[in-house]
Amino acid sequence: MSANPSTLASRTSGVATVKLLINGEFVDSTSTEWRDIVNPATQDVLARVPFATVSEVDAAIRAAHEAFRTWKNTPTGARMRIMLKYQALIREHMPRIAKTLSADQGKTIPDAEGDIFRGLEVVEHACSIGTLQQGEFAENVAGSVDTYTLRQPIGVCVGITPFNFPAMIPLWMFPMAIVCGNTFVLKPSEQDPMSTMELVELALEAGVPKGVLNVVHGGKEVVDALCMHELVKAISFVGSTAVGTHVYRLGSEHGKRVQSMMGAKNHAVVLPDANREQTLNALAGAGFGAAGQRCMATSVVVLVGASAQWLPDLVEKAKTLKVNAGSEANTDIGPVVSRAAQERILGLIEAGVKEGATLALDGRGIKVPGYEKGNFIGPTIFSDVTADMQIYRTEIFGPVLCVLSVPTLDDAIELVNRNPFGNGVGLFTQSGAAARKFQSDIDIGQVGINIPIPVPVPSFSFTGSRGSKLGDLGPYGKQVVQFYTQTKTVTARWFDDATVNDGVNTTISLR
Ligand code: NAD
Repeated sequence: MSANPSTLASRTSGVATVKLLINGEFVDSTSTEWRDIVNPATQDVLARVPFATVSEVDAAIRAAHEAFRTWKNTPTGARMRIMLKYQALIREHMPRIAKTLSADQGKTIPDAEGDIFRGLEVVEHACSIGTLQQGEFAENVAGSVDTYTLRQPIGVCVGITPFNFPAMIPLWMFPMAIVCGNTFVLKPSEQDPMSTMELVELALEAGVPKGVLNVVHGGKEVVDALCMHELVKAISFVGSTAVGTHVYRLGSEHGKRVQSMMGAKNHAVVLPDANREQTLNALAGAGFGAAGQRCMATSVVVLVGASAQWLPDLVEKAKTLKVNAGSEANTDIGPVVSRAAQERILGLIEAGVKEGATLALDGRGIKVPGYEKGNFIGPTIFSDVTADMQIYRTEIFGPVLCVLSVPTLDDAIELVNRNPFGNGVGLFTQSGAAARKFQSDIDIGQVGINIPIPVPVPSFSFTGSRGSKLGDLGPYGKQVVQFYTQTKTVTARWFDDATVNDGVNTTISLR
């Protein structure tokens, strides 16, 4: 195991345990409820993670609340310099963290480095806080009156993250919250928290003061306690639609600001004039990369008109992908995260067969030599899929592509807009006019033109929409600066003449 010993400690059973971070100290939980962290390629138990007790959750929030008193007044430049150091440390330790991430999550080492890199970019962007957190100023809005805004931190913020990006998604959250002057309590996925903890440890090494960043582990009870605690001001959630909706409702009911990024069903629309080889490469990469466990993975391909004839080539392309443990060189597709996830995906494939879709490529029953116990599913392609089938309506979150054919671009746009999810969509074409029409008429928050996974860089924001999101403001970029701050507007009048006397005015101002 490659995790750093100060976040993981040996217990009597001989299996390492993941610690909590409370008020600057990595501490052993006193919980009686623990879960094994399992390597999805081997079923080896890598460590055990506690489900924190009510008093541990309370202690983490209170530490963050106390730290906010001083952290909120720390100058912007000092906060920025911690982020400058943090980005350098993440870059330096990326190979080690990628190994840990691949071991407990399952993704390939290069993809694990990509996971960390996309988070690192957010930390780099956090270094621009000096210009990102500026207010506005208008001079002389009335006689001798100026108006200006302050962008002030809000207090204790909470982050609840999913298993599929254990580096990128925590890094979407706490660096931007902290650099804005807030304090933070992170609740990583209980399935694969080890690389997240290594990133947290580096944040302390970069100079994040005690209490400013805290970590608790657990499931529903811990999440609910975070959503209801009186001292929590804002909650960032990324995960499934069912849990995200629950967190949004519970947090909102308790007066918190909440952003929930949730499930998806991302379509790729292919026009017959697209660059054929590039498009097939993109579909296979975005459909099967990370074993389909990306919220922006392509899960539906819509072949328009004559591009329906490309199906056999897509199947051939998918067959070239190598399924193996993420730690092995040249692997394209690693295992899915857990036995439960594997069983769920296999159940959905079975449902697709029963519903009458054509199994153009069957990834079930795949055996990987040396990793016979791994949760592997090979690339799977269904054709003749219709919009009423369960495999089309449900987020499968595995290496399964559903292929539909429609006559025209208008039909494709109508199909995509009828789907309740709104995370991402791609169009493959060489026609500028078709691309322009598509970007205008499609009702999806993130659009790729000849780009299969259009996740915006951190100087923009993640803008999934409709059923994929609750709350107005998305993660990272300028939107998250708004989310993690509150605007105070000051209207000020200064008199040149200390003896001025306007008399009593009982009307609302007439300027
Ligand atoms: P999940 O919803 O099961 O878990 C997310 C978090 O919620 C975890 O920290 C988990 O411990 C907690 N949780 C689980 N059950 C809970 C409950 N009943 N009550 C309260 N909290 C609970 O999601 P996951 O399986 O870890 O991640 C996969 C999902 O995340 C997919 O649906 C995927 O599309 C989505 N996702 C969305 C985005 C996005 O930006 N829209 C990004 C990544 C992942």
